Amino acid sequence: MSESETVYCHYHPDVATSLRCNRCNKPICPRDAVRTPVGYRCPECVRRQQDVFFNAMPIDYFLAGVIALPLGYLAQQLGGRLGFFVILIGTLAGGIIGEVIWRATRRRRGRYTWAVALAGLLIGAGAVLWPRVVFALNGFGFGVVIWDVVFFVLMAGAAVARLRFGR
Ligand SMILES: [Zn+2]
Ligand SMILES: [Zn+2]
Repeated sequence: MSESETVYCHYHPDVATSLRCNRCNKPICPRDAVRTPVGYRCPECVRRQQDVFFNAMPIDYFLAGVIALPLGYLAQQLGGRLGFFVILIGTLAGGIIGEVIWRATRRRRGRYTWAVALAGLLIGAGAVLWPRVVFALNGFGFGVVIWDVVFFVLMAGAAVARLRFGR
């Protein structure tokens, strides 16, 4: 039986701890410990793991934007005219856009693919949506754009959900 030695946090040398990263065995304190499904890990190991997980290439971000822009534009053109049915079609349209991007990028996972796609939608679909919103704000009431807005939110939400991986 050896006496227990005091170890100090790798990141905070003045903090004594009994916690260790379960991958590299480095002493860490509760402030640094990241809880993962397989136990506590240090930030470096978590980062390294994510870098393996996120394997997107720069071209993927380009593709995500280039695809989201026209598809968002087309979908918004059609979607805004469907009235109540946008509730069914909006999510479907977003899911399809997400799926197209996912396949075009050869199923590589990008940390920010969803954000680029969202930006593409905000510009592409926005080309249709924003003028209508301005129109509504100019006194015509939100009744004229409500379905456009609902469609956009559902579409963007579904596309982002499809492209957002892990955390
Ligand atoms: Zn570690
Ligand atoms: Zn610490």
